[in-house]
Amino acid sequence: MSQKPWIPETLFDTLGFRMSYAAERVLVEDRTAHQHLVLFENATFGKMLMLDGATQVTSRDEFIYHEMMSHVPILAHGAAKTVLIVGGGDCGIAEEVLKHRGVARLVQVEIDAAVVEFAKEHFPEFTGPVLADPRFALVIADGMDFVATTQERFDVVIVDSTDPQGPGAVLFTKNFYAACRRCLTPGGVMVTQNGVPFLQPDELVASVTHFRALFAEGTCYVAAIPTYVGGHMAMGFATDDLALRQTDIATLEARWRAAGAFPTRYWTAEVQRAAFALPRFIAEAISPEAIASVGPASAASIQKSHKDG
Ligand code: SAM
Repeated sequence: MSQKPWIPETLFDTLGFRMSYAAERVLVEDRTAHQHLVLFENATFGKMLMLDGATQVTSRDEFIYHEMMSHVPILAHGAAKTVLIVGGGDCGIAEEVLKHRGVARLVQVEIDAAVVEFAKEHFPEFTGPVLADPRFALVIADGMDFVATTQERFDVVIVDSTDPQGPGAVLFTKNFYAACRRCLTPGGVMVTQNGVPFLQPDELVASVTHFRALFAEGTCYVAAIPTYVGGHMAMGFATDDLALRQTDIATLEARWRAAGAFPTRYWTAEVQRAAFALPRFIAEAISPEAIASVGPASAASIQKSHKDG
C-alpha cells in the first residue's frame, strides 16, 4: 500500500520542532505570486490549508478562531456597521462577520487572489455565502497599502494575517497598526492574529508594545485552537474605548440576540469575558513593566528579525 505523504508545518523549525500531518489526498499545491500554498485532506482535521509551511485553516477546528476573531470585537463594540478584514483569504472570518445583521459593509483586503480563487473551490462553505452577500467587497491589494491610503473608516478592523514572514511581515509593524488606527472610527477596535505566546512570545510582546504606543488600550485575549499548536492562541485587542473589553455578559448576550442570535460552537458571552483572563505567563509577558523593558525600538527589531527571516 503506497505510503501517505506527510505534510510538515515548518513554522517552528527554528525552535527545533515540527508537526506533520498525513495527507489522505493533496488537493492543491502551488507557488502563487506571494507564497507557497498546499491544501490537503487529513483524516483528523479534514481539509487543511498551509501557506509558507504555516497552518492557516482546517475544516475541523476553523470555527474556534473564526468565531473568536469576529464576534468578540463586533459584540464588544456594540454598534459596528462597517468592518475591515486584512488578509482572511479563505473567507472564514468574513462568513462569521456577515452573520451580524447590524453590519452594513464588510471590506476584505487580501494580497493573494489565488487564495480566494482556490477557497471558492475548496471552502465553498465560507466563500459561497460571503461572495453572494451584497454587503461584501473584496479588494486584492497589500493590506499595508490599503490602510495607509483608504478614505473609508471602519468600526472594527480584523487582521487575519499569516505569520510575520513573507507578505505577512508588514502586518506586524507599528506603521501598519498606526495606519489601521487611522482607519478606525472613534471608539473603534482592532483585533489581530498574534500567534501562540508559548512559542512566539516576541511576536505578541512586539505587537502589544506598538498597540500601547498608539491606543489607550492594548492587550490580547486567548482561545485554544488545536491546529495552532503550542497552547493558547493570542488575539491582539487594541482600542481607545476602555469600556469595550469590560462589556458585561448580559450586554454581550443582548447584543448577540439583537445581531440575530446565530448559532455558535465556541463563542459564548461567558467565553468572551473569560478569554481576557490571561494565564499568568502571558499576562506577565505583556505587563506594563515587561513592555517598558522592551520598548518600541526593541519591538521594531523583533519585527525586523521576523522580516529578515
Ligand atoms: N487564520 C490564519 C492564521 O491564523 O494564520 C490566517 C488565514 S488567511 C489564509 C491569511 C491571509 O493573509 C492569506 O490569505 C494571505 O495571503 C494574507 N496576507 C498575507 N500578507 C498580506 C498582506 N500584506 N496584505 C493582505 N493580505 C495578506
